[in-house]
Amino acid sequence: MKDSYGREINYLRISLTDRCNLRCVYCMPMRGLEFVPNDELLSPTEIATVARAATETGFRKIRLTGGEPTLRRDIVEIVSLLHDIPGIEEIAMTTNGYRLKKLAKPLADAGLNRVNIHVDAINHDQLLKTMRLAKEAKVWEAITAAEDAGLLPIKLNVVVTRGFNDDDVAEMAKLTIDHPWHVRYIELMPLGAPAGIALDNYISSDETITRIERELGGITPLNGGELDGEARLYTIPGAKGTLGFISPVSNPYCGDCNRMRVTADGRIRLCLLSDKEISFRDTLRNGSSFRDLVSLFEQAVTHKPWGHKLEAGIHPELRTMSQIGG
Ligand code: SAM
Ligand code: SF4
Repeated sequence: MKDSYGREINYLRISLTDRCNLRCVYCMPMRGLEFVPNDELLSPTEIATVARAATETGFRKIRLTGGEPTLRRDIVEIVSLLHDIPGIEEIAMTTNGYRLKKLAKPLADAGLNRVNIHVDAINHDQLLKTMRLAKEAKVWEAITAAEDAGLLPIKLNVVVTRGFNDDDVAEMAKLTIDHPWHVRYIELMPLGAPAGIALDNYISSDETITRIERELGGITPLNGGELDGEARLYTIPGAKGTLGFISPVSNPYCGDCNRMRVTADGRIRLCLLSDKEISFRDTLRNGSSFRDLVSLFEQAVTHKPWGHKLEAGIHPELRTMSQIGG
């Protein structure tokens, strides 16, 4: 289904929980947040119903996220139910990888196609500074487990944060020389309580590219310099993998946006960077018809805003990334 600006909206990111075992500096305060009570989280059957309603509206690709999606004990069941829905062409997951050693194979067997693993640095101090409760060994176990399970291609998410992990951007890029991995550098976005950190420590993709080139020499644009999805792709000459730069702040890709989000507490979030949401939990739980649910997705697509207003200093204040589903 097309939105009112003619964009085909077909990619749904479903947040399975707002809880997380880590406390990344730009995402969640050390003390945690007020989390959605367990009985208010969507059950596996409810998630499948929501996904079916979304496919009726034209959604074809699903990404499971959070919080940390692998904290859900029923994560394999959720993937399996989604896999059985006709119309869903791809199921991906964004995860900090902490539980992937155990889960990668069962998830792949249940129908998960691929994962993005969040790892902000390979340098021990910089990893701990940004992702705080992260454990280095877990990161490498996660990547190996995902590769062994065939959750390919492996994409590594790096949120570049000045003074925290920016000295490690070239080291991360070097990983692509010998591995067919995609390292994706994401510009920091101001959201909810940790917005101040994002505003104070923001680094543009252009500066990240300059820093990588200063240490490693020139990198080559791919795809004729055009966006590939949300990323501008490059490669280190001769490398097996690629580098992607995602620039929602310095170079917004709103015109190509094809996505919408479902929050862990049962709301459709029309744009990551706008607080506009439509609640569907009551519709799901009060005996309304499936058609009513489909119609909420249709409304959401119709009312999707054009884009964000970060350049005007306006950013979402109500929720952090972990509460929306990044
Ligand atoms: N816990 C999982 C993880 O960390 O990948 C999934 C949820 S997390 C909210 C999804 C992604 O959001 C992370 O991979 C991280 O790259 C990104 N992220 C979180 N906070 C961000 C922020 N303020 N700006 C930009 N990206 C952010
Ligand atoms: Fe947790 Fe992911 Fe947020 Fe880090 S970015 S605190 S791993 S939800």
